[in-house]
Amino acid sequence: MVSNSILTPRLTEAHRDLSRRASDCLTPQWLEQWRTAPGGHIRKDAWRELARRGLMGVSLPVEYSGQGLGLLGALVLGEALAGVGDGGLALGMHVQNEIACDWLVSAQDDELRDRFLPGLVSGELVACQCDTDPSAQEPATAVIVGDEVVVTGRKKFVVNGANADLCFVSVQLEGEPAIVLVEKATSGVRVTEVYDKFGTRSVDSALVEFDSARVPVRQVISRRGISQLMRWNRVMSRMRFLIAADAFFTHRMLLEHIVRHTTTRELGGRPLAQWPVNQHALARARADQELMEAGLTECFLRLTDGGSTVPEIAELKWFCVEKATELASLSTDLEGGAGYMWGSTALHAHAQLRGLRMSGGSQTTMLTIANHSMACRAELDAPALAAAPGRRRG
Ligand SMILES: Cc1cc2nc3c(=O)[nH]c(=O)nc-3n(C[C@H](O)[C@H](O)[C@H](O)COP(=O)(O)OP(=O)(O)OC[C@H]3O[C@@H](n4cnc5c(N)ncnc54)[C@H](O)[C@@H]3O)c2cc1C
Repeated sequence: MVSNSILTPRLTEAHRDLSRRASDCLTPQWLEQWRTAPGGHIRKDAWRELARRGLMGVSLPVEYSGQGLGLLGALVLGEALAGVGDGGLALGMHVQNEIACDWLVSAQDDELRDRFLPGLVSGELVACQCDTDPSAQEPATAVIVGDEVVVTGRKKFVVNGANADLCFVSVQLEGEPAIVLVEKATSGVRVTEVYDKFGTRSVDSALVEFDSARVPVRQVISRRGISQLMRWNRVMSRMRFLIAADAFFTHRMLLEHIVRHTTTRELGGRPLAQWPVNQHALARARADQELMEAGLTECFLRLTDGGSTVPEIAELKWFCVEKATELASLSTDLEGGAGYMWGSTALHAHAQLRGLRMSGGSQTTMLTIANHSMACRAELDAPALAAAPGRRRG
């Protein structure tokens, strides 16, 4: 992935060193040692081990005790994380390193940053992002009472929810969206379910409840208006970008796997890959892979060098996850009966991709974001509006 004409020149020796260190460590065998049980999620002490291996705070600026390797560092790490063979760990790492650390840095509150950021980087603290309400009619809410904020609500399917010490909770605060940082140890916070999942099993997903949990009001780390929207868009765009990259890495692995399978398995007197129906399907998958790489590179530049990101990255996440899911389905068929057996590579990839369809927002939500943006652009480009005196476009 990172070996293309635009990204390769941006790789420093520190990125290459990270790639070597991370891929030496992040193997299925390594993962097995840190699970609660075979096939279970990672234990809490795995986070300290990841830090000991120098894999935390990769994109965080050096002045905040990070490694200062930026989004490219996160991408390099994402590529290595795919090596564990389960998509959960990558999701957990994106939440900790890209979402939680970013909320703390952008809060511009030295006390909060000094209190929590070092623990996130050392793996002493684990963070989760609590967004998904049970329904639109039951949003988590917060009210300010004196110098405290009181949070009430339930959040579903929260990655890292069980292991987490810090919860970044999306709430309605006096009718407006806000993010409140609530320590898990706060009275009224409980994990009421740890889900048993189809894929992404290496990270826990939990139901977290907040029953009048009180924290100091300074822990409202983002609130109200355009600044809240911009910070929300920033963390979610980085998260979705990295999920799109996770889907790309899965697609690339699957394509190599299924080409190997279909070129060695003969049916009807020739390799499976040489039957036109399969040739065309594999050629489409190859084209999809190249488009994904081009899209990732383009969106990487938007995120690092500037430009519109929200609809473009929503489209990218939709495209990469959709195409990887299609290839997983094709590969499962091409594996024949073996594609129905528990050890199937394609079936296993399919399970990870089902998780990526919902995490960071559903595929439908990605299309809705893209569609709203198209409608806005169309409105801005409408001749009547463009010609109207005193109206500026852009
Ligand atoms: C692997 C994984 C990781 C996750 N991580 C987190 C996390 O860390 N934190 C967190 O808070 N949540 C997390 N989630 C939850 C995830 O964000 C939600 O599952 C997702 O946003 C969908 O919400 P829902 O489950 O309530 O489904 P619903 O809202 O019930 O949606 C069901 C389906 O209907 C579609 N839909 C919704 N509205 C419409 C509409 N108006 N028109 C047409 N279709 C519509 C949705 O796109 C979806 O496909 C995770 C989920 C998974 C699977």
